[in-house]
Amino acid sequence: MVRISGPRAPEILGGMFRKVEAGSKKLEARKEGQEFPASNLQPPASDWTSHHLYYGKIFDSQNQLLDQALAVWMKAPRSFTGEEVVEFHLHGGRLIALKVLEEVSRRGVRSAEAGEFSQRAFLNGKMDLAQAEAVADMIAAQSTQALKLAQEQWQGRLSGPVRHLRQRLLELLVNLEAAIDFPEEEIEIIDRKAILVLLEDCLHQIRRWLADYELGRIIREGLRVVLIGKPNVGKSSLLNLLTREEAALVHHEPGTTRDTVERVINLGGLALRIIDTAGIREGQGEVERMGIERSRQWFEKADLVLALFDTSIPLTEEDEEIIDLASKKRCLFLLNKVDLPPAWDPIALALGHELIPLSAKTGEGLKALEEKIPSLFGLAELEKGDHLLLNQLRHKEALEKGEASLRSALKALEKGMSTEFIATDVMAAVNHLGEIIGEVTSEHILEDIFSKFCIGK
Ligand code: GDP
Repeated sequence: MVRISGPRAPEILGGMFRKVEAGSKKLEARKEGQEFPASNLQPPASDWTSHHLYYGKIFDSQNQLLDQALAVWMKAPRSFTGEEVVEFHLHGGRLIALKVLEEVSRRGVRSAEAGEFSQRAFLNGKMDLAQAEAVADMIAAQSTQALKLAQEQWQGRLSGPVRHLRQRLLELLVNLEAAIDFPEEEIEIIDRKAILVLLEDCLHQIRRWLADYELGRIIREGLRVVLIGKPNVGKSSLLNLLTREEAALVHHEPGTTRDTVERVINLGGLALRIIDTAGIREGQGEVERMGIERSRQWFEKADLVLALFDTSIPLTEEDEEIIDLASKKRCLFLLNKVDLPPAWDPIALALGHELIPLSAKTGEGLKALEEKIPSLFGLAELEKGDHLLLNQLRHKEALEKGEASLRSALKALEKGMSTEFIATDVMAAVNHLGEIIGEVTSEHILEDIFSKFCIGK
């Protein structure tokens, strides 16, 4: 499908597309092998109905037939972007689409930037910023949970509550500003105790949202899982087993996995970004050292570490290092090669860590591992559903700034400082919340003040 947005879209449609109406004379003409002269083209405004799908032919400027297809015109502002929108629904096939795109660009249309349709929708007031971001997230979603979260955000699961909270603070601000600007007027200004209760309530709300961020981020971006273990312990074999494909090179010589290999798999609706690192063993060659450096970087960013141990050979110092390293993160200890006779007692590893016996060769223990991972991250809780599930750094940072401003407002209030100080902080919080949904504030505040109080007139 080729989609065009902008004021000239109907003109492009009129220039390229000729309707063919079933049973009409035109159709008869087509049957006889006659083409219509280019001068027959009609701009949509005259005989096109908005939001109707028409069957017809697409021609280039040399009057060459490009495709028989469907076309629709969506009259502004009733379109996704709020602008004039035209769509050509073509026969599948790269070349046809390419030809139509070429013709369209010859007529002065340029390719959209990434996210530009959503951006225009936002700028034209079709959706707020968080919703526009959600559209991008829906497209990029790599798991069913990520998609669900994005769809909910698109429908306002984030914007709604944020807007509501912002509105409460805005109302408080209106009162504070009124008290500052018109102290002599007899305006009923809420008392300090009520302000305190309100601020504390808003802070509590923001903190609850912030607490959701980790899970939200994991759902949106995928869970970063890092496999560690000494060479030959079975990391590549496990990765292959999890991904059910030959993703990483498996070799019986130690140190063959020289670089990191990342694969994305779906587990219980969650995307897992599994990284197989080069052994953390000190390498000799340059390539191996680079791999090791990278694996350390990945380790720092990991949400979950899967530490592998080989039960068929005695534990070594390297294993001790792995235990130390893994313990710094949320981790699962995987006792691999249980299909072979054991060389040591796994109890030695217990130390309060979760142990999962496994055979990357036979697949034993895989199910237990696959069930364990999503449950570790509270995905089941999600279904209960009163979460806001903040999932973007931008939103998190805005909320953190909002939280700091409210804390400062509370402090000013508790210290008995003048209303100006409190108002400044509340204003900052309102602005930070507004950043999430892309609201501009200052004029709104003025409007609010005058619409509510009608002071002066
Ligand atoms: P890595 O160096 O940690 O990536 O280890 P590999 O996955 O390359 O495995 C090293 C060797 O151990 C290969 O010959 C694998 O076939 C073998 N191996 C891996 N997992 C198992 C297992 O669970 N049981 C047995 N018997 N062999 C395994």
